[in-house]
Amino acid sequence: MSAPATSTALQETPCCAHHPGQEAVGTCARCGAFYCEAESIRHGEHTYCESCGGRPEVGHLERLERLWDARENNPLARHALVCGLAGLVVPVAAPLAMGLGVAGLRRVNLEATPPIGKRQQALAGLVLGGLGLVGWTGFVLWRLSQGRPLLP
Ligand SMILES: [Zn+2]
Ligand SMILES: [Zn+2]
Repeated sequence: MSAPATSTALQETPCCAHHPGQEAVGTCARCGAFYCEAESIRHGEHTYCESCGGRPEVGHLERLERLWDARENNPLARHALVCGLAGLVVPVAAPLAMGLGVAGLRRVNLEATPPIGKRQQALAGLVLGGLGLVGWTGFVLWRLSQGRPLLP
């Protein structure tokens, strides 16, 4: 058990909860205590104080969170991005990317617990898919206007 930071919040620069005199650089994602530069421990996107960062379940939770983010958090958006990139090379992937992008965007819900994000990835898939589609349509029209076969 570590006590929360002793009313240092009212001071101009908060001090580390464990090392008085050391300037705090942030608050622990788990216990909320101020930590100093030397003891901050990073797991994924969060930073913890020395005692919390050393707890095995903290690293475990972060791993689960990353796994969840990679597998469960709006996979449609990620697929949209992948298809969008593929659509620049393979024509059929472009409309697919746009469909996935739209579906992915609809799923984004930051109010949900945990929040469903990746709006940027869905948007990127949508835009890349659109670019791919426009590019390939232009290519086909150009080939046709030249009277050449579509495939070399
Ligand atoms: Zn902590
Ligand atoms: Zn410290």
